[in-house]
Amino acid sequence: MANLTKSQLEKLKQKLLDRQRVLVGEVREKREQAATEGNEDAMGGVGDAGDESVLRMNTDLEIQEAGRDMEELNAIDAALRRMEDGSYGDCEACGQDIGFPRLEAQPTATRCIQDQEKFEKTFATRSTPTL
Ligand SMILES: [Zn+2]
Repeated sequence: MANLTKSQLEKLKQKLLDRQRVLVGEVREKREQAATEGNEDAMGGVGDAGDESVLRMNTDLEIQEAGRDMEELNAIDAALRRMEDGSYGDCEACGQDIGFPRLEAQPTATRCIQDQEKFEKTFATRSTPTL
């Protein structure tokens, strides 16, 4: 466990739980929206092709957003689990303390700032097509 005081840990846990509540609400709303749109689509019959493609684009965007929300929810779950098992706040790459200021800014962080930068560089390099 990183060198966090009880009150720091409580504060971070509260942040995670608050964010979790917001995200769960958003995901639920999007699901309901998608369900309503689906029904309208089924009942409304055939619109013209233009309408349909706009609707499809919106739905794709919503699915993408919902996917990001789900990813963040998973990250929050994982952070709460790490709080339970005592590994919260430790960098998963080097094992050093991530540090409270960084965790306060990003309570789901799993790496210290140096390792996060390394990771992002590696990731960026990997996603660039090499010829
Ligand atoms: Zn590290």
